[in-house]
Amino acid sequence: MSDRELYCDTCEGVQPFEMPPCADGHGADCPELLCTGCGTAVLIATFAFQPTRLTDRRRRPSAGRHAA
Ligand SMILES: [Zn+2]
Ligand SMILES: [Zn+2]
Repeated sequence: MSDRELYCDTCEGVQPFEMPPCADGHGADCPELLCTGCGTAVLIATFAFQPTRLTDRRRRPSAGRHAA
């Protein structure tokens, strides 16, 4: 159980929110929370954007051994 306290517009105050049972297969990443005060469902947009790597380091094959 992971409760979060968020501001609820309906309750006009901070209420503990809880994760509803997710039917969409989001699991622990479900962005939906229910206000325990009034039952309003809210979506929290906390998707982690992964930065696009434009400068991906290319692997160079190592120069190999020095023939000594
Ligand atoms: Zn969900
Ligand atoms: Zn509420």
